[in-house]
Order: sequence, then structure tokens, then C-alpha cells
Amino acid sequence: MKQLPELIFNKSKEGKVGYSFSETELSDDLIALDVVHRREDIKDFPQLSEVEIVRHYTNLSHLNHSVDSGFYPLGSCTMKYNPKINDKIASFEEFSAHPYSPLKLVQGNLEIIKMLEEWLINITGMAGFTLAPAAGAHGEFVGMKIIRQHLSSKGNPRKVVLIPDSAHGTNPASAHFAGYEIKEIPSNTDGIIDVATLNEHLNEEVAALMMTNPNTLGIFEKNIIEISGALHENGSLLYMDGANMNAFMGIVKPGELGVDVLHLNLHKTFSTPHGGGGPGSGPIGVTSELVKHLPVPLVSRNTNSNRDGDIYHVSYFNEGIGRVKNFYGNFLVMVRALVYVMALGKENLRKVAEDAVLNANYIRKGLQDLLDLPYTSKTFHEVVFSDKGLNVKTLDIAKRLLDFGIHPFTVYFPLIVHGAMMIEPTETESKQSLDAFIRAMKTILKEAEEDPEKLKNAPFTTPVTRLDEVRAARQLRVKWERESESLSR
Ligand SMILES: *Cc1c(COP(=O)(O)O)cnc(C)c1O
Repeated sequence: MKQLPELIFNKSKEGKVGYSFSETELSDDLIALDVVHRREDIKDFPQLSEVEIVRHYTNLSHLNHSVDSGFYPLGSCTMKYNPKINDKIASFEEFSAHPYSPLKLVQGNLEIIKMLEEWLINITGMAGFTLAPAAGAHGEFVGMKIIRQHLSSKGNPRKVVLIPDSAHGTNPASAHFAGYEIKEIPSNTDGIIDVATLNEHLNEEVAALMMTNPNTLGIFEKNIIEISGALHENGSLLYMDGANMNAFMGIVKPGELGVDVLHLNLHKTFSTPHGGGGPGSGPIGVTSELVKHLPVPLVSRNTNSNRDGDIYHVSYFNEGIGRVKNFYGNFLVMVRALVYVMALGKENLRKVAEDAVLNANYIRKGLQDLLDLPYTSKTFHEVVFSDKGLNVKTLDIAKRLLDFGIHPFTVYFPLIVHGAMMIEPTETESKQSLDAFIRAMKTILKEAEEDPEKLKNAPFTTPVTRLDEVRAARQLRVKWERESESLSR
């Protein structure tokens, strides 16, 4: 069992220091003279040696589960291992630039943006891309604004956005923010949208359908061509949430299926570690008809380079929806993505998708005799089981997995599956780690039959065991406080 390290305050001993300067050089200057920033005293500030501090924080950093320390099959969020070399390249100092740098000095950066746009156009079959949005949900919002502006320019922005019950949770939020009412449409027993059901909901109020594809059941919306046809006939548009493009990139191009607007998550599919709270990127791809609505800034390539020799330009003016972010502060996400697609090439991008689907289906096959599979259609990059027939809860199984050094899968989502266990292994896992996961699940499911009470108290080996989830949510206090402080609250 991993122990919680002792509080840094308890390790403190009066007079221990983490630095040493020669008295003569520093006695009255620098720190002493910086009266603005100098504090006379910090109450109870811990006093430790350098090595104690290093060990303290290193040990703390090992308390978290990460994709570098173990299997992390979180569905819909693609916690995949990304090549470390891409991080290394993104850290080259040549790539860092001040946002107000003259264009002359950032031609290389602009070239990277343009090249990545072209790769994404190639992969998705869309006519144009913007790399402005900073995350998936931001991309959705930008996409819906584009749809709204396009429809407004035709005379009526319309009122309603249809969203299937198997869509990602950010979709309704984004459409709502863009000023639309949401109408949910039910999926059929195969877990996908029926053209007939869609037709029942279509009228002149409908601006668009927002479809997550593959949907959150891991199922490809195989009626997509009929669906986009029906929408277009109704003057409505098709938005595709392509955050999980790792399921079919290199195999199918959404642009060829009648998709009008789509977003990708570079921090899921294209090699930026996801989930660390760092910058992300949610590029939007559109059809040629919608290119003019893209947000600024737009990067363009001038083939007849001008007097200054600048080939790449940035434009802040078009008829589009305006500006959605101040700077390309997430530029290094784009560097990683470009390195990733160029290193893999077209052929291997396809292989990424094939292996992601193969791995998810290996897990499906390995567990389908033990767990209920509510939708039996073919699944792609993830598989969703339910808790039907079990005498423990999904949460108990998820918590127990931690004792096996495995991060739990996504739980209780999508909502249309009771006690959902949404498992996405990603393409980077070996057969051995998939087998270890299946074995762990089999052990846990056996325990669930023989000793269900035990599972209700799991995990046992983690530094913090079963939490009171309600209290954790209501009284979120993740920092240590002196007893006197916490009592006073
Ligand atoms: C992750 C995800 C999103 C949201 O992306 P963020 O970058 O977290 O905002 C949207 N749709 C799907 C299907 C996703 O998996």
C-alpha cells in the first residue's frame, strides 16, 4: 500500500535550510534589499534541506495514477500514451514566440499552423480548418456560431438543435451557448439514430443535428449519409463531434459523408497528453460553403512572396464570426500534432484507428460472457457494458480496479446505459496489458459473487481509500489546513 507522505510541516526542524550562500556576497544585498517582496516572516514556514524537499514532492507526484504509470482505459476521453519525442520536439526553444512578434520572425510557426491545417483537411475531407478553438467544447461552440451565422445570412438562424441521447455531454451545452434550444432524439435499439426518427423531428425550426461519431456507445452512425441528406433537404446542417477520430481516421473522411462542420480534439487523437489541465486544441473543419464564416485570425500562404519575403500572412478581417481567442497560446499542441501526423504518415494513421478498434474489441470479446452488453452492434474504439445482473455497483468495480494498478474506465456515462462501464483501451496498449486488464476484471467479478461486501469498501491499497463522494463534491478541500483554520470554517 502506498503511504501518504508525512506532512511537510512535520518534517520541518528549526534551522534546516535548502540553500547556502556565502555570507560575504549576499549578506545585505539582493534578498535583504528587496523590501517589496521580502516578508519578515511566514508563520510556521517549514524548514527543510534541499534533498528533503525534492523527495517530498517527488513522492507526492507518485501518488497519482497516470498513463505513464499504468493502464488508463477511460472511455470517450482517450487517455492514450503519446510519444515522448513529440513533447521533446515541442520543447525546442525555436518554437516559442512572443504573440506580438513581427510576422517576419514567426514565419516558421505560421508554416506549422498552415501545414497542420492542410493535414487535417486531408484526413477529414473538409474544405477548410481553423486552429483557433482551444478545446473540444470551445470548437463545438465556434462550430455552432458558424452554423448560426450561415443560417442567419440565409435569412433565419432557426431555433432548434437536435441532439441524440448518445451524444457527448458538451454538445447540448455548446449549442445552448450559441443560442439554440435543444431537442433530444432517442437512439434505436442498435444504439444509433434512425432516419425515420430524425424525420419526425425535422421542421423549419431545426438548425442542425449535432452528432457524436462514433457515438458514446462506441458505435459508428452508419445511417450518416441518409441523415445528412435528410438534414440538407430540410435546410439544416450536420455537425459532427469528431473528438474520437482515432476510431476511423485514415479510413473514412467525414467530409465525404455530408458533414458540414466538425471538430477534432488534438489533445485526444493527435498526441497531446489529455487530462492534465494543460492547453488543448479543438480545430473546426467546415465545407467550402462555410469557409467564409471561419473565425479570425486566418493564416494564409502567399505563393508570390512580397517585397519583405514573407510567405505566411495573418489576417484579422473576414466576414466570419470574429475572434474567439486572443493568441495561439496553445501553439505547442499544434507542433505535437504535426510531428505526430508527419511521423506516422497516412498509412500509419489508418493503423492507429485499426489498432484502437481491434484493442477495444479484444476487451469486448474478453468480457462479454461476464458482463451485460446492452447494445450489440459493432463497436469501434470503445465498448460500453452495463451493471445488469451484478450484485455490486459499477462504482465498486471501478474502485477495486485501483487495487490492481489500473485506472477505472468511465463510469455511469452514457446515461442511456444503466451503470455504464465505458472502456477505451486505445491503440497504444499491448496484448499483455489488455490481458492483464481482462484478468483483473475477471478476478473482481468473481469477488463480486463470492464476497460483495468486500468490494463495497475498495480500494484498499491506495493512499486514500473509499471517499465519501457526496462530501467530497460538496466540501471540496484539496489543500491541507491547520486544524485551527479548518475548524473555523
Ligand atoms: C472530450 C470530448 C469532448 C470535449 O472536449 P474538451 O476538449 O474536453 O472540451 C467533446 N466530445 C467528445 C466526444 C469528447 O470525447
